Amino acid sequence: MKKILVANRGEIALRIMRSCKEMGIATVAVYSEADRLAPHVRYADEAICLGPAPSNQSYLLADKIIEEAQKLGVDGIHPGYGFLSENAGFSAAVAAAGLTFIGPKPKAIEMMGSKLAAKEATKAYDIPLVPGTDYALTDIEEAKTVATEIGFPILIKASAGGGGKGMRIVEKAEELEEQMKRAVSEAQNAFGDGSVFIEKYISSPRHIEIQVLADGHGNVIHLFERECSIQRRHQKVIEEAPSVILTEELREAMGKSACDVARACDYIGAGTVEFIFDENNNYYFLEMNTRLQVEHPVTELISGVDLVRQQILIARGEVLQIKQEDLRIQGHALELRVYAEDPANNFLPSIGRLERYRAPKGVGVRLDDGYEEGMEIPIYYDPMIAKLITYGKDREEAISRMLRAIEEYEIDGPATTLPFGRFALEHEAFVSGKFDTHFVKNYFRPELLQKEEPEEELLAAMLVAHLLDQKGNKASATTASNNQAAKRSAWKDRAMH
Ligand code: ADP
Ligand code: ADP
Ligand code: MG
Repeated sequence: MKKILVANRGEIALRIMRSCKEMGIATVAVYSEADRLAPHVRYADEAICLGPAPSNQSYLLADKIIEEAQKLGVDGIHPGYGFLSENAGFSAAVAAAGLTFIGPKPKAIEMMGSKLAAKEATKAYDIPLVPGTDYALTDIEEAKTVATEIGFPILIKASAGGGGKGMRIVEKAEELEEQMKRAVSEAQNAFGDGSVFIEKYISSPRHIEIQVLADGHGNVIHLFERECSIQRRHQKVIEEAPSVILTEELREAMGKSACDVARACDYIGAGTVEFIFDENNNYYFLEMNTRLQVEHPVTELISGVDLVRQQILIARGEVLQIKQEDLRIQGHALELRVYAEDPANNFLPSIGRLERYRAPKGVGVRLDDGYEEGMEIPIYYDPMIAKLITYGKDREEAISRMLRAIEEYEIDGPATTLPFGRFALEHEAFVSGKFDTHFVKNYFRPELLQKEEPEEELLAAMLVAHLLDQKGNKASATTASNNQAAKRSAWKDRAMH
């Protein structure tokens, strides 16, 4: 493979190209009109504009991407995560065009893209599943019977769901019919597939997932776990490896189950098997993500394995050189997803221009970002600005480095999840390791966030205006620059405390 096209944008496009560069492979970027000035476009050896900003007119144009790849003499296409990464049709079309899809075969994507088909496929193995139905429910009476049997609350899930969407908690029998109807119509609208099923709602769960690698020669290994329980809207915000609660025995058992899930679908490449973990140390298979995962860097840091490099080697048909027994967990890694979202306002998107952007640096800090100062965060895509990743010899060191990096990180413009990160990492429940997926609901209140500068800024500006007024000066002309100065000194204040 001499030339790879990365069918993605932002931090993950850059992340992939970096490994390509180290391997002496040329890169082709694709971009939408909104991303014309993005770093991933400049980083690549060649770049192709796909069209207007909306993803269905750019990053999701499978045929156009393949056509451009052929014109440029590309050998392989890496889909990243999101967009076309879990599209079986795309994997098939890339292969049909005589190119290499850097990911699993269409059959594996299809099987694991449906949570029900995934449960079905794993039946040949002894993999624990959440109590519930393993088929699509259509009959409301049957749903009631099943739900009563497993006990409320239950979760209605869309088989084709993803990204935390397509789930409904039902607390009692009377609500079931109404919620089922809504779930089916939502699933139909959002995923084009109205199949829903029931799972027992695990009341105090942790989300723990296992990274796997499988080559085309029957070798399957796992690279330990990632703890991803700090979530909002069923979506991860903070991840870490290893998990504080796994014993060696549990790690081995879950690792084996994860490898079995990969075997069940003839998996090739890097994939993630997600489990839910209850208070009694039972784990249950949730789903498999058939792609590189957002939080893969924490695994890279504790295992020393470059997962993108491995994906490329496997796609080339090489035999996996890493043996399970060679792998060891070294140190501890944390990741904070820095979203352009306002934690003080329900984590709603807070897009806009990065008026000031200064990245944290120093020992134990890895920042995977896709933006630069002055750039707009487009409304069209996932609002993630960066992934702030820290590494330490143990969890305590990784946490102190994360707190230090959050302090150093300067982002003016959109609100971000940085203050939330600081809140979480300083919280007793996180520090002690005794938390579950309800961390945000149980502990987080917007008023607990350290006050941000806007209020201080406003006060300072008012004070200045007042003083100037007293002197009989015109305040308005100078307010703006004083405003800026107040803001900077607020930053200094924060840095000093
Ligand atoms: P991960 O599973 O890698 O931890 P997410 O669940 O946040 O991360 O998903 C990664 C990316 O893929 C996000 O951009 C998300 O919006 C997108 N995504 C995941 N599943 C789907 C889906 N079924 N449909 C559309 N986008 C999805
Ligand atoms: P998605 O495809 O959207 O990622 P998942 O099945 O992986 O869906 O679930 C996403 C999150 O929803 C989990 O990390 C967990 O927080 C929650 N969840 C899923 N299933 C259950 C369950 N049976 N009980 C409690 N929480 C669940
Ligand atoms: Mg999931």
